[in-house]
Amino acid sequence: MISNRELFLQNTAQTSSSPRLLEIVKAEGVYLYGPNGEKYMDLVSGFNVSNIGHRHPQVIQAIQEQLDKYLHVTVYGEFVQAPQVQFATDLLAVLPDSFQSVYLTNSGAEAVEGAMKVAKRYTGRRQIIALNKAYHGSTQGALSLIGNKAYHEAYAPLLPEIDFVDLNDMAGLAQITDKTAAIIIEAVQGEAGVRIPELAYMQALRKRCDETGTLLIFDEIQTGFGRTGKMFAFEHFDIVPDILLLAKGIGGGMPLGAFVAPKEIMDVIKDNPMLGHITTFGGHPVSCAAARASLKVIQEEKLLDSVERKAALFREAVQSDKIKEIRGLGLMMCLQLENFDQVYAVSNYCAQQGLIIDWYLHCETALRIAPPLTISEEEIIAASKIIREAIDKFC
Ligand code: PLP
Repeated sequence: MISNRELFLQNTAQTSSSPRLLEIVKAEGVYLYGPNGEKYMDLVSGFNVSNIGHRHPQVIQAIQEQLDKYLHVTVYGEFVQAPQVQFATDLLAVLPDSFQSVYLTNSGAEAVEGAMKVAKRYTGRRQIIALNKAYHGSTQGALSLIGNKAYHEAYAPLLPEIDFVDLNDMAGLAQITDKTAAIIIEAVQGEAGVRIPELAYMQALRKRCDETGTLLIFDEIQTGFGRTGKMFAFEHFDIVPDILLLAKGIGGGMPLGAFVAPKEIMDVIKDNPMLGHITTFGGHPVSCAAARASLKVIQEEKLLDSVERKAALFREAVQSDKIKEIRGLGLMMCLQLENFDQVYAVSNYCAQQGLIIDWYLHCETALRIAPPLTISEEEIIAASKIIREAIDKFC
């Protein structure tokens, strides 16, 4: 019989020539399980998705209850669907008052696309500014914002009138003018290898946007829902963006995204022409039921309260002279090594020892550490021991 691994290579599209090829048959809490009894601690949360752990019982219950009612009934934006309405209401309740309208999407990239469209319509301008080293998704609009020129060359032509500035470069803010529709920035640059904006930069950025009438779009697709120790990372910078992008951790493990904005901004897609952004499955009722339960779990289990303590414990427990730098905000962390060979060897060894860690798309010299926020202190210590062992062996 052909194995699932062979069928994976044979029948499903491959995105690289070196996939991890770990087969997973079950996931629960902080752990993933393989077909032959393998058990792995998930230190990357399915790439910043499983903030509340895998298959949280309250999420499973919410999904089951919705399964008994309805699945897809119509395209987004037509019928009144309680899971969508209730989740949007709960989400707005944890956001500043300026956020008044939630557009639910399938994915992060779709939220990015919608936000760019809304920003252009609302301002009547065309230029969008992104950051060097940014990652905002893989559709052509989102890819136009990627700060890695290899993708621009490979997939040209992408969107016109996109310009780039460097993170934390105050002088670059002068590129934002009254011709700029929006600047889009990750609250913490994830795929660049966890690059944290400086407080003064973020505040100057907000001010420059106000001066020029430019919309400030925060991509919190990786940082949202407690990952950095606050519900949303913009709270660290004492500013409020105009448009907020969410996905990944939003759905408690189910596919969902959103862009959130003041009503006045969101309303531009209603007419001239009508249906300015539409989607069939965006805001799927089962995903919204899961998202609502997941948000409740973050609040009821007070998951935000322990993020900083756990991150500090990680930093302490993983310490090694061979780590060049530990960067992080809350439980969005990375360990900077010398080169990709070290990162590759360490992550392979960790996988053999039952620990899933990875690297970042545009920073292959840093190990990605972003465990579920529910990870226990004992698990952090056990994971750190394996990582230290691997670093001692291969660095
Ligand atoms: N924005 C950021 C910061 C991301 O990290 C990602 C995905 O990794 C995206 C956008 C795109 O999200 P999705 O993969 O759901 O389209």
